[in-house]
Amino acid sequence: MIRIGNGYDLHRLSPGRELILGGVNIPHELGLLGHSDADALTHAVIDALLGAAKLGDIGRLFPDTDPAYRGICSMDLLARVGALLKSAGWTVLNIDATLLAQRPKLAPYIPQMERAIAVALGLNEDQVSVKAKTGEQVGVIGQEQAIAALASALIEQ
Ligand code: MG
Repeated sequence: MIRIGNGYDLHRLSPGRELILGGVNIPHELGLLGHSDADALTHAVIDALLGAAKLGDIGRLFPDTDPAYRGICSMDLLARVGALLKSAGWTVLNIDATLLAQRPKLAPYIPQMERAIAVALGLNEDQVSVKAKTGEQVGVIGQEQAIAALASALIEQ
């Protein structure tokens, strides 16, 4: 049995926060606001995996009202979700994700993000693809108010 899932996430940009995407700490004057490390890319990947396996969503598994998840590294959550799928008999075939960010330029960090996601899930790097687009200077992405991410996951049982 093969299943597909999609995920989406958006976090607000704010001063005084770190910018972490796909587990990579990216130097920038703004970071993402959130209860965890606010890694929007990893959150979208988590939701794609959970959706594909019909195991709920990130908010249900890791509620942002739970102090246990304050400031937590989202790559740890991704590894837990990978283990959850594995215990339910699912194998991840591939992940494809798109980052939506006006600034900073994310291209130089993409190979590192792909590697980090692959490592967290025990996959090969060629099973994980991350792409990046700007917001064409319009809307919440283009005006640098937020960074968002979309992800798809294909899994097999
Ligand atoms: Mg999130």
